[in-house]
Amino acid sequence: MRIILLGPPGAGKGTQAETLAERHGICKLSTGDMLRAAVAAETPIGLKAKSIMDRGDLVPDEVVVQIVSERLDEPDCARGFILDGFPRTVAQAEALERLLGEKNIALDAVIELKVDESALLARVEKRASESGEAVRSDDNAEALKNRLAVYREQTAPLVAFYEARGLLRTVDGMQSIPEVGAAIDEVVSQNAA
Ligand code: AMP
Repeated sequence: MRIILLGPPGAGKGTQAETLAERHGICKLSTGDMLRAAVAAETPIGLKAKSIMDRGDLVPDEVVVQIVSERLDEPDCARGFILDGFPRTVAQAEALERLLGEKNIALDAVIELKVDESALLARVEKRASESGEAVRSDDNAEALKNRLAVYREQTAPLVAFYEARGLLRTVDGMQSIPEVGAAIDEVVSQNAA
């Protein structure tokens, strides 16, 4: 099973990717998580990415494409993967197409989580207040506003990109977490081998 989860910040991609990966025994590949780990470990990539992430801007395409390419080759991704937060630009989607083509792998579906934008700020604030750990440094109103603008400008065009390839499926992301999970499973059962 090879799935992309698409949707704006706060749509619930991370939560759904986590449980979907567990339910189906596939790897969850979250570029945001990997970049946050790189920031915490102060690797060269992390040092470069930190201020970009804090602002809510996008890390350069070649950086994320490289980390995704390496991660896809790890054994736990052999049975399938769920991409959370990647691709985020048309250039990344094209690079992913080339990468998967070289590995002779096809995507099963791209699942768009559709959400009401006005609910996103509330969701992110809730996530920040419930988190036992330090609040994510980009979970604040200013960075979120920018992340939403960046999503609209750079990531939303992927809806048409994947629609044109016949891969786009849409799920109502405003339902409860288990309902969204069930709707995703339904899409997966209809589209994945
Ligand atoms: P996320 O956890 O997916 O919301 O990602 C947090 C931040 O990491 C984003 O606001 C970006 O700065 C960076 N990031 C994550 N994934 C990507 C990506 N595919 N391309 C560029 N930047 C990314």
